[in-house]
Amino acid sequence: MEYILECFDCGSEYSPREVKYLCPECKKSHIQGNPLKGVLKVIYNYDKIIEKFDKENPDWDLFLPIEKEYLPSLPVGDTPFFRSERLSQQLMFKNIWIKNDALNPSGSLKDRASFLVVAEAKKFNENKIVIASTGNAASSLAAVCASEGIQAVVFIPKTAPMAKQIQVKLAGAELIQVDGCYDDAFYQSIKYSNETGCLNRNTAYNPFTIEGKKTVAFEMYEQNSYKIPDAILIPVGDGVIISGVYKGFADLKMAGLIDKMPKLICIQAKNSSAIHRYINSGVYTNEDSPTTIADSISVCAPCNAEMARFAVKESNGFSLTVTEEEIMDGQKQLLQSAGIFAEPSSAVVFPALRKIKENKLLNPDEQIVLLITGNGLKDIDTPLKYLSKN
Ligand SMILES: *Cc1c(COP(=O)(O)O)cnc(C)c1O
Ligand SMILES: [Zn+2]
Repeated sequence: MEYILECFDCGSEYSPREVKYLCPECKKSHIQGNPLKGVLKVIYNYDKIIEKFDKENPDWDLFLPIEKEYLPSLPVGDTPFFRSERLSQQLMFKNIWIKNDALNPSGSLKDRASFLVVAEAKKFNENKIVIASTGNAASSLAAVCASEGIQAVVFIPKTAPMAKQIQVKLAGAELIQVDGCYDDAFYQSIKYSNETGCLNRNTAYNPFTIEGKKTVAFEMYEQNSYKIPDAILIPVGDGVIISGVYKGFADLKMAGLIDKMPKLICIQAKNSSAIHRYINSGVYTNEDSPTTIADSISVCAPCNAEMARFAVKESNGFSLTVTEEEIMDGQKQLLQSAGIFAEPSSAVVFPALRKIKENKLLNPDEQIVLLITGNGLKDIDTPLKYLSKN
């Protein structure tokens, strides 16, 4: 569908022919080492979408900025959505559901963003895509690029879990290990795309990453018989997944398909909780040295802090943090009661659910969804260490 780009910070509108990444005005005020300024939002002509959209035979591609013919043939998404009876019973909620996005081709929800950015590369005849990542976005981009014969170049902290690095290498991507954290990798990758002119898939920096991630909202809506769940628990690092989920439901609302949003619940590790603090205090501060074992949600300066905060506030959601001990215990509990092996970053939803129950933050009758973002097999060293200590 045709679209325009709107700056989330100043509201300026741009044609896709003028601008590709950030708002040219707002990005000037960005200080390195802080959340991005001028992240762009993709806006469609919703009247045109409604004209063509048929609920009996839904074509969700109408809500995408790239034509069908360019979409990769590797299937991404269409992951299971189901009620967990035992989890519901154990936690004394009536309706706990799971959306298992760990079952994507590379084992994480990141494949949804890679899918759309690879489509963007195909449309504009780009043969190389660069990314900075804590691991999953890199292993995802490497896989989706490989499926289309596009070269991926990835900057990743050298401390990233080995399985994720192996995924990148075996897929034939160029792996550049960075001495430092994700934020260091981020700036190196921007320098690389500026210098070489290749496409950049950094999350939030490239607005299509949010558009790709939003498809998980469409699926939940359809799989839930065209009803919106009451609340969705989402692991948050950079704040792009939660912004994507929000954008998906916001698109449905703009198209007149729904009239209310699910409450989006932001879950962060206590040791990496910049967005959580921002939501609750309204004052933003970096997490100077994030130390969580949940590597995919460990960030100093979350790129998409503004949009993530907005998503939680506008949906009447809230934010919670969980400790390292709770995360490791949650990983075990989630597997033992729901049969789902999630990586630590993703397992944060389990202890969060427990806190929600204890503090009566949601009603026990509500339909609550746990968004499982990454597969447990991606990092077995962390539970191994934990098991040997306990
Ligand atoms: C990337 C990732 C997250 C966090 O997503 P953000 O967009 O950075 O908030 C959570 N869980 C897993 C498994 C991830 O790979
Ligand atoms: Zn702007």
